[in-house]
Amino acid sequence: MQEKPLKKLVIIGSGFAGLRALYRLSDYNYHFEVTVVDRHDYSLERPALPEVALEDKPVEAVHIETPPQFRKHEAAFELGEVTQIDAQNKQVILDNGKTLHYDYLLIASGAVKDYDAIKGYREYGYSVCDDTEAARLHERLKRFEGGDIVTGAARSEFGHRVDAPELKAPCEGPIGEVMFMMDHRLREEGKRDKSTITVFSPSEIFFEDVGDNAREPVAKLMQERGITLHTGKELTEITEDSVIFSDGSALPCDLAIIIPPYKAPEYIAKSGLGDDKGWVPTDKTMKHLDYDEIYAIGDINALAQPKLGHIAINQADVAVSAILRREGLSDEEVPFTPEVFCIMNMGGHEAILIYSNVLYGGEYDMAWHSPIAKLMKLSFDEEYHYTHGHMPPDTVVEALEGLLHRFAKQKK
Ligand SMILES: Cc1cc2nc3c(=O)[nH]c(=O)nc-3n(C[C@H](O)[C@H](O)[C@H](O)COP(=O)(O)OP(=O)(O)OC[C@H]3O[C@@H](n4cnc5c(N)ncnc54)[C@H](O)[C@@H]3O)c2cc1C
Repeated sequence: MQEKPLKKLVIIGSGFAGLRALYRLSDYNYHFEVTVVDRHDYSLERPALPEVALEDKPVEAVHIETPPQFRKHEAAFELGEVTQIDAQNKQVILDNGKTLHYDYLLIASGAVKDYDAIKGYREYGYSVCDDTEAARLHERLKRFEGGDIVTGAARSEFGHRVDAPELKAPCEGPIGEVMFMMDHRLREEGKRDKSTITVFSPSEIFFEDVGDNAREPVAKLMQERGITLHTGKELTEITEDSVIFSDGSALPCDLAIIIPPYKAPEYIAKSGLGDDKGWVPTDKTMKHLDYDEIYAIGDINALAQPKLGHIAINQADVAVSAILRREGLSDEEVPFTPEVFCIMNMGGHEAILIYSNVLYGGEYDMAWHSPIAKLMKLSFDEEYHYTHGHMPPDTVVEALEGLLHRFAKQKK
């Protein structure tokens, strides 16, 4: 009897979402022939980047070498840049001249951080969003003798084809880390008295993706540490000594640390797969609204709001379970359950765990400031790194969620 050919499944991107999908699929190697495409042969652990910038963590410690993982999980690897997807002919086109055919495509190529959208960024701005930028900030801090520090997220734009919360800043957690870690670092160096730390947000509410129970403890800690806040400020320009906003106002600034606008990669729009702002619109199984073989997971997906690793992981599980059901390999239906779960490093022994789903009409909303939260962050980062991008086992995650649900019910 002739064996059925394996289904060709291509994953674009080996970040949080792509690696999770690969690992979830690896029990089904007898059914799929998986190829991962990435422009790098490592996966970048973005949540650890503030430590590269502010705590002397080496850049190599936030790179997870991926080719050995692809071999272990019997996936092929194409090192290259995807330049176009030909959805009619089910092909992925790479800059190295190769074309990959697929039966299923998982787009997991993340969001582009558009530094050049902010005038003056390349000369005067700094960020923690990529490894090169975090390392550049680290070098700058060695020469920083105190002054006015301004940190915040620039405004990002999202389309309207799917029903997702409208956020002006897709991820303000790193700003929370920068402001507290900077405060800690400057105190350690004896430079806090010579410095100010000012935060801005493009939204009317800083941390607009959570509720008051999560926000208030953060606001209290900011007040205690002398960190000031300006909301409703859309960054347009960084100069040698100021940051300038769209309403014409400006803040004095010796060091600007920003999250640039997030934008969708151009190859998505060029391939006719994006919404009005280029993000990939999908249903809640992560399947493209117009193409049955294409799924999108992680930051690139228009439903991913806010843009968080935690949501990327959930979306990878949802998409893989949907594909397995379609292939008759499993009955499991993983639901899309977006929620904010992040642990903000505050420097020293401190961190704050934020858990909230009120943005999606849920009832959980909390912030927990504790050295135990710091321990959890360190353990998570170490585990993620040393297991090459694996999440803690499902039983551990379920136990933690059970605990959080007991404490996180919103006080009315
Ligand atoms: C500083 C910082 C701290 C954060 N902290 C947290 C946190 O504590 N908790 C949390 O949940 N989230 C956090 N996030 C958000 C989280 O990092 C992202 O949501 C997550 O990385 C998204 O995963 P992804 O797989 O969608 O995209 P990415 O991680 O960006 O991965 C995309 C992959 O696709 C590849 N790629 C892109 N385009 C192409 C192309 N054209 N061709 C080939 N390959 C391509 C890239 O090389 C990359 O490997 C943080 C983000 C930042 C910036």
